[in-house]
Amino acid sequence: MSSPRHLLITGAGRGIGAATARRAAREGYRVCVNYVANDAAAGAVVADIRAAGGEAVALRADVSRADAVQDLFERAVAAFGPVTHLVNNAGVPGRIGRVEALDPAVLVRTFEVNVFAAFHCAQAFVRRASTRHGGVGGAIVNVSSMASRTGSPGELVHYAAAKAALEAFNYGLASEVATEGIRVNAVACGLIETDIHAEAGDAARLQRYATRMPMQRAGRPEEVAEAIVWLLSDAASYITGTVLPVAGGR
Ligand code: NAP
Repeated sequence: MSSPRHLLITGAGRGIGAATARRAAREGYRVCVNYVANDAAAGAVVADIRAAGGEAVALRADVSRADAVQDLFERAVAAFGPVTHLVNNAGVPGRIGRVEALDPAVLVRTFEVNVFAAFHCAQAFVRRASTRHGGVGGAIVNVSSMASRTGSPGELVHYAAAKAALEAFNYGLASEVATEGIRVNAVACGLIETDIHAEAGDAARLQRYATRMPMQRAGRPEEVAEAIVWLLSDAASYITGTVLPVAGGR
């Protein structure tokens, strides 16, 4: 692909998205750092990138809403021109608990952010980037979880089911646009050191599960970022429709 490359990452104010934004900027991408609420965190990511000589802007939007995603893409294009790469990273875990205790509103929100947001963003991206629509092509990476395989019983079955849906979307979209210059892949994260575990209601989860992993530790967001940036790159030019585990041996 010809330069300049423009990467939009959803949920990039903290955690895996923030690490991916910093890593991609070092590769020369212009980066749109999307987030939903934490202005300070997203601002810090942008400041780091600019201090290192890169280009980035922070764009607040709730990507679970289709209208907000349309507006987000318009602001991204105004900032850096056509979006050439997309990472669907924004995700929420809901609350840890058994299925029979699950609040229906949490179930809906889990699918809205982990699944519907990826559809909204991919639609906006493909409409502009597909060669079918006069675009120059590009790449998408969806951020999934090993929970899609384990089902996360007793804890996060709703979240695991959402990530399984995301992986079906990943495979189907990849096939749909395979001849249109767009590759679509996913990473399936294992246990990664971010705020998401506290948000799920159990910050101690990280320590409890870390030693059960084959590598006997949790992963760092930067380790996931490496895999995402590689899948986005032309080095992965014959890879589409795959899910790459980044999970320390799980
Ligand atoms: P995190 O540290 O909790 O960060 C989540 C980010 O997503 C934040 O920047 C947040 O914005 C943003 N966000 C949440 N809802 C949003 C929305 N509706 N619109 C736009 N942005 C939104 O999470 P993380 O652990 O890095 O997770 C990133 C991805 O990895 C998620 O898809 C998650 O499911 C997946 N994953 C994580 C793990 C793990 O162990 N950490 C394991 C498997 C999969 P604010 O900063 O503004 O709140």
